[in-house]
Amino acid sequence: MVSDQGPWTIKKILVWTDTYFTSNGIDSPRLAAEILLSHCLDIRRLDLYLQHDRPLNKDELVSFRELVKRRINREPVAYITGTKGFWESDFKVAPGVLIPRPDTEVLVEAALKVLGQVGDAPRRVLELGVGSGAVIVSLARSHPECRCVAGDLSLTALGVAASNAAMEPQCSNLDFVAGSWFSPFRQEAQFDLVVSNPPYIPTRDIEALQPEINRFEPRLALDGGVDGLDCIRTIMAEACDYLVPGGILLMETGSDQREGVDRIFKNCQGYASIEFFNDYAGLHRVVKLEKKIANSKPL
Ligand code: GLN
Repeated sequence: MVSDQGPWTIKKILVWTDTYFTSNGIDSPRLAAEILLSHCLDIRRLDLYLQHDRPLNKDELVSFRELVKRRINREPVAYITGTKGFWESDFKVAPGVLIPRPDTEVLVEAALKVLGQVGDAPRRVLELGVGSGAVIVSLARSHPECRCVAGDLSLTALGVAASNAAMEPQCSNLDFVAGSWFSPFRQEAQFDLVVSNPPYIPTRDIEALQPEINRFEPRLALDGGVDGLDCIRTIMAEACDYLVPGGILLMETGSDQREGVDRIFKNCQGYASIEFFNDYAGLHRVVKLEKKIANSKPL
């Protein structure tokens, strides 16, 4: 980085970084430059504008250059800053944990609607595959009367999720368990709501995803097997044994998986209804299944 005219001010370095990111094919270059610079200087993004004439000292320039290099190497902004905004909070993220996506806010919205409808009785909510904890922490803090539990196979994910929960004083209603899908739980009708954003990318499609995803994000959280539906099939088949009669299963799916999910639903005897919700781009993103009231196991 060489400035031909005077010191590197915040404004000047943002313009330079925006151009550099653009010429390297980095998505949302201006936004990335602003997030990285405010992280580096430990100020709010707004302060970049309020302090646009502030010159950067040598140490600040050196550390900012390191962050720019990492982004040029395609590391996601959220791993570089260690945080990602989701729903109403900022969540800690780290390599080994899927970065929460705006698409997944549709899952939170659908779950809050379900929890808002059932009245005030305390309900039990389970999340399978907790990742950073963004979904279950968002639910637990809005519904302190619910008893929430979340599981993951990855101990890294459980650690990050637990630290995100610890930052929310209202989240004393949330526990974590290690294990695959329903394996840590007793096979009995105990949950009113099960939510999950399982891995659903077909294995052969992973290589073609952006380098930010396929080189940096955990395969465990992405790879859904040959047709992408392996985990969705397992969860749909097993959830009926753990839901109360009339209980709800909500899952995020790939936008092109509606037909496949419909087929699995037709092969499962336990559900009374299926419904799909769109994401903000108008694509099928979340499936809602309601467990039948009859045929259910007694409580
Ligand atoms: N939505 C993520 C992506 O497009 C995938 C998340 C998942 O498999 N659950 O990369």
